[in-house]
Amino acid sequence: MHKKLFIPGPVEVHPDVLKAMASPMIGHRMKEYGELHGRVTRGLKKLLFTNDKVFLATSSAFGVMEGAVRNLVGKRCANFCNGAFSDKWHDVTIRCGKEADAIRFDWGTPVTPDAVEKALATGKYDSMTMIHNETSTGVMSPLPEIAAVMRKFPEVMFIVDTVSSMSALKIPVDELGIDCCIFGVQKAFALPPGLAVFTASEKSLQRAADMEGRGYYFDFIEFAANDAKNNTPSTPCISLIYALDCQLQRMFAEGLENRWARHDDLAGYVRSWLTDRGFASFPAAAYRSQTLTCSRNSRGIDLAALKKGLGDAGFAFDDGYGKIKGETFRIAHMGDMTRADMDGLFAAITTILPELALSH
Ligand SMILES: *Cc1c(COP(=O)(O)O)cnc(C)c1O
Repeated sequence: MHKKLFIPGPVEVHPDVLKAMASPMIGHRMKEYGELHGRVTRGLKKLLFTNDKVFLATSSAFGVMEGAVRNLVGKRCANFCNGAFSDKWHDVTIRCGKEADAIRFDWGTPVTPDAVEKALATGKYDSMTMIHNETSTGVMSPLPEIAAVMRKFPEVMFIVDTVSSMSALKIPVDELGIDCCIFGVQKAFALPPGLAVFTASEKSLQRAADMEGRGYYFDFIEFAANDAKNNTPSTPCISLIYALDCQLQRMFAEGLENRWARHDDLAGYVRSWLTDRGFASFPAAAYRSQTLTCSRNSRGIDLAALKKGLGDAGFAFDDGYGKIKGETFRIAHMGDMTRADMDGLFAAITTILPELALSH
């Protein structure tokens, strides 16, 4: 039995998208691929509000997160860490042999503009990394405010992971001045995993051109040279790019404004279902994610048993990530989810835990 995915990635994939993946194969040096690549990158530029280059990498997000560090960190990197994925990015930076500092925030709290300003004002850094939407804690950091600070430090590469937020709300890459915006496609994009997308500003390509040790697979300069021919350095995951083409068309058919509004509505819907039942939010109210809700287990329910029961009923449920597993649980509401999908999950939860049914 397929368990419907309410975990924060991978998430449910629409049948039309799955069907697109079964399109007959083409060669990536054939003109048919060039057409597909051109159409997809044009769509992505529209979605990301950018005129920068947009590249397609056959890897999960961490491939490009590592690539960004290798291409863009020269002097020293400030890694802003407020959860499991951003902690890991610092570790990745160090493992790439780069000089870096972790600027840490308590889990459940955002990266703050003040902390960014204070760190960068030291003049020690030529690059910074941060995660817009920390999927481990359900915290969304204030990107526009941080972007405003970044304008004071034009020599610092602004490298942002939007894995679990891109397309769920407006993230205008050029207006925010992001030099390298990275996301995998199995979360907010609701595609199967294996493809990552990233942007590269002119400034970042200039930095990369002079960088030692870029390697080959994620060499930004190789990506730029190939993209000029609507192509990729090595053989891409063509089936997933078909799926992305289909999903972009579905997104534009829904309308971006409508897509953002649907995510906003769903986030509110899930939060109130939980607060009405006495569950406290893990993140502070102002920084709650638009795509997943991370709740404290304030009712002390047996999350492992709930996960098991939901699994038997056909629902994949997440009982927390990393050091807050068991203490928190997360419900994803990203991609193609609707209120009806959430109602299905809520009904299954109340069947297993009747004490969560509200008496009217
Ligand atoms: C899932 C996730 C990643 C890691 O993605 P992979 O596809 O496993 O490499 C990175 N950042 C964020 C914010 C994520 O949610």
